Amino acid sequence: MTAPAAPTEQPLYLDHPASTRPAEEVIEAMLPWLCERHGNPHADNRHGQRAAAAVEQARAEVAALIGADPSEIVFTSGATEANNLALRGFWPTTGAQGALVISAIEHKSVLETAKDLAAAGVALRVLPIDGQGRIDPQAVRTIRSDADAAEPLLVSCAHANNELGTVQDLEALTKAVQDIGGHFHVDASQSAGKLPLDVSVLGLDLVSLSSHKMYGPAGIGALFVAADVRERMRPQLTGGGQEGGLRSGTVPVFLTVGFGRAAVLARRSRADDERHLRLVMTAFLTQLSTEGAEHRVLGPTADGLPGLVSLFLEGVEAPDLLDRLAPYLSASTGSACSAGELRASHVLRAIGLNEDAARRVVRIGFGRGNTVSEACEAARRLADAVALVRYVA
Ligand code: PMP
Repeated sequence: MTAPAAPTEQPLYLDHPASTRPAEEVIEAMLPWLCERHGNPHADNRHGQRAAAAVEQARAEVAALIGADPSEIVFTSGATEANNLALRGFWPTTGAQGALVISAIEHKSVLETAKDLAAAGVALRVLPIDGQGRIDPQAVRTIRSDADAAEPLLVSCAHANNELGTVQDLEALTKAVQDIGGHFHVDASQSAGKLPLDVSVLGLDLVSLSSHKMYGPAGIGALFVAADVRERMRPQLTGGGQEGGLRSGTVPVFLTVGFGRAAVLARRSRADDERHLRLVMTAFLTQLSTEGAEHRVLGPTADGLPGLVSLFLEGVEAPDLLDRLAPYLSASTGSACSAGELRASHVLRAIGLNEDAARRVVRIGFGRGNTVSEACEAARRLADAVALVRYVA
């Protein structure tokens, strides 16, 4: 018997929350900085000056996306580093006091950093969440007790969760954090360019951004540091004093330019993208129901992150399902390999799923370029694969 022919076509890419492919315009904007315009933006020569000007333009473009001043943008290698800088940089290198407040569904780059800070003496408080991963602003207000009123307090949460698509009410949360005299860090990796976000209107202190989640290149991100918190922030990378002393290291010009261009595109098309993605999601879910594939949506759909659908599929092992679907579409499961063992994600466990239930979760992440007909095709493929997997089981 001959093996079935390998599909020649690319599977449909439905893993945009993991990474978005850089837009054509982004790649075009980057290329000259990898070729004839190459130079060190910190060098005092023609090439360097030209590169520095490009970096400053990109800084202004990224700042404009979130309503910041360009001087408040610190380029980093991505959101992981931005989250590290936000949290670790908030505390002095010795004598860590005060409290860090997070939720259990934060990204690992926040959770693991929080653990380190707790080991160094910072009190770690974990806010409760509801079944969809929402933080109650009222719970934030109860955090500060009179005894520790003088100590630094940092609240950190993601604007949009990368597994469920849950969007936090930043307005209410900012108000609650301000009421207790704390500072507020928001990880906007998933939401920047996809949801409205204006740091000056909201009054945020620190905001993390990731270029490869918004159709820019991977390897670059930024931390917004509000002018009035800059003084208290400590660099985590020391050296030549670049980025106003907060992040030493040569700024990668081509990545920065790409990130800037991605920010311009996002600003231009954000509202259209959102409308389009909500249409695509609705078409996908409607088709899935038409096909008779029993499912439950875990996160919010109407007011969640545009494009992200987290599906619970009874009787299905998500890794098996995605294996079957691999020739046709790339999506992701709710489990991650940890020390050679498949473990349910901490996010799914935090909203109450046990190991067994979390193995039945698939995340579909549509992007700007996906069409309604692709969404319907994905739903058909998924429904077929679910039926097959349930039948075999
Ligand atoms: N925070 C969130 C919410 C994310 O989804 C991610 C990426 N999965 C990160 C932080 C890390 O981003 P980066 O890949 O830029 O380090």
